[in-house]
Amino acid sequence: MLVACILSLRTQDTTTGPAAARLFAVADTPAAMLRLPAQRIETLIYPVGFYRTKARVIRGICRDLIDKFHGRVPDEIDLLMTLKGVGRKTANLVVTEAFAKPGICVDTHVHRISNRWGLVKTATPDRTEIALREVLPRRHWLEYNGILVAFGQTICHPTSPWCSRCKIADLCPRIGVVRSR
Ligand code: SF4
Repeated sequence: MLVACILSLRTQDTTTGPAAARLFAVADTPAAMLRLPAQRIETLIYPVGFYRTKARVIRGICRDLIDKFHGRVPDEIDLLMTLKGVGRKTANLVVTEAFAKPGICVDTHVHRISNRWGLVKTATPDRTEIALREVLPRRHWLEYNGILVAFGQTICHPTSPWCSRCKIADLCPRIGVVRSR
């Protein structure tokens, strides 16, 4: 989950899935991954975005997992964020998806829509995640990302949301929306 999340950054899901499958078919533990030269990882994960950088990040993470965490991925956000290349979004995704622990995974869709709704007033996804922890009931944390990503891809688009088709238009203050359909 951790490595797949690194691969997915700035990359389409349709590219991430096959790249992860190719990589894990060759190496599915931190030790096995470290036995691969960075160039081999690059070849396996190409064409994910920033594949050269990601190959080095993945090797660095695997080295840290072995050196600091006995080869196991930690299940706490703060510990995950000590791994180079792991930010809040990735850390939250790992604790929620891999460990089913409370967390809110905030990507660009969750950040944008939460601000349009006025649920938070924040400038970055990291700030949104921290603000959501205060206002979003905990029972919705795990499902929130999946719902808003689907909603953001289909209705509440980044540049011109489909407000005329939106089922919750009556409830939405549309904060920051300058153009809509
Ligand atoms: S009304 Fe428009 S801005 Fe508000 S949630 Fe719906 S699509 Fe998004």
